[in-house]
Amino acid sequence: MELEVKRMIHNALVTHFTPKAQRLVASGLVEFASSNRYYVYPVVFEVQRRGRTWLCQCEHYSRYRFCEHILAVQIQEAQKT
Ligand SMILES: [Zn+2]
Repeated sequence: MELEVKRMIHNALVTHFTPKAQRLVASGLVEFASSNRYYVYPVVFEVQRRGRTWLCQCEHYSRYRFCEHILAVQIQEAQKT
C-alpha cells in the first residue's frame, strides 16, 4: 500500500514537471557532462546519478526528491537510446 501511494505521488510529480522538463530538453538546456552527471541551464543545476537514483540541488528536489531537472535528464536519456 505504501509503495502504491509513493508511486501515485511520483506519477503526479511527473505530470506536474513534464511540460517544464520537455521545454528544457527542447531548448537544448540539458548538457551531458559524464555518464553520471548533467548540467541543466539557465540556472545551473548539477544533476548527478548515484546508483539508480538521481540527485539535484534545487528547491523542488529538496522538497520532493524529484524535480524538473531530473525529469529533463531522464527525457534526454530516453531520447538518446
Ligand atoms: Zn532540480
